[in-house]
Amino acid sequence: MTLHNLALARGTVDRVTKRRTDQDWIDAAWKDPRTRVLVVHDGQALVRGDEELVFVSPEEAPAGTRFLLGEDADGTVYFGVSAPLGAPGPGVRAASLREVGAVLPDRDAGLLTHAVALANWHDTHVRCPLDGTPTVPDAAGHSAMCPTDGSEHFPRTDPAVIMLVTDPEDRCLLARNAAWPGRRVSILAGFVEPGESAEQAVIREVAEETGIRVTNVRYVGSQPWPMPRSLMLGFRADAPAGQSIAVDQEELAEARWWSRDGLLAALRAGELALPPSVSIARHIIELWYGGPLPSTWTAGGRSQRG
Ligand SMILES: [Zn+2]
Repeated sequence: MTLHNLALARGTVDRVTKRRTDQDWIDAAWKDPRTRVLVVHDGQALVRGDEELVFVSPEEAPAGTRFLLGEDADGTVYFGVSAPLGAPGPGVRAASLREVGAVLPDRDAGLLTHAVALANWHDTHVRCPLDGTPTVPDAAGHSAMCPTDGSEHFPRTDPAVIMLVTDPEDRCLLARNAAWPGRRVSILAGFVEPGESAEQAVIREVAEETGIRVTNVRYVGSQPWPMPRSLMLGFRADAPAGQSIAVDQEELAEARWWSRDGLLAALRAGELALPPSVSIARHIIELWYGGPLPSTWTAGGRSQRG
């Protein structure tokens, strides 16, 4: 069983990686008034009615770090620029991936995810880590070069694992993070450490957070989560019988096993709320459940569709 149609893994635009070093092509694309530029700032872009991103022409684009996002099947080239968003016009507002990542069409969800990821990296990696010299964007904004020592630096992505654990009765383990309000629950997650495989991280994180030993770790899918720079790797794992939960009180407020019927009843009664459909967690839980579930957290005060 694998996941399909994850909200932030739906991009349709060709990344045209070979064009990144073709300066003539890039210059021509930037002069073309049909080229679309997405301005992103602090993880947000302008959207019109939740339905589509608002692009500007290269001429209208503000000054800022520029990066090539790709080229559509119809030949339209897309760039991103990291710069303050302009004043939103009528029916337009600034929105984050959490808010609109699941409701934008495929093309726009992919472009916003790509642009936010690159902008987050440029915004926080401005100097050479070897000698502190300010770096210069290279490869159409997909790397950065140190002018002093010539070292090349690439965008950073932090792998994280997120896993649904089931017991021999096929009940799933849901937990409430100590930092979360009241009814929110989700599956367990954590970062992959240096020198560790994703599967090892699944086993370690489940044991650290709940005291449960898992086996049969299997991959179900992934999606980028550039908030600010994660790649979420989804897994399922089995908990052999005869174990009791011992939560790490610093990480989790509580954790327990839920049957399908028990979970559905608790969601309908408003006792629990699941992560929104923009998250891979929601999709892994529904993959186990066997269909859509009611109730969701709200993001930015707005309820999520889907
Ligand atoms: Zn350097």
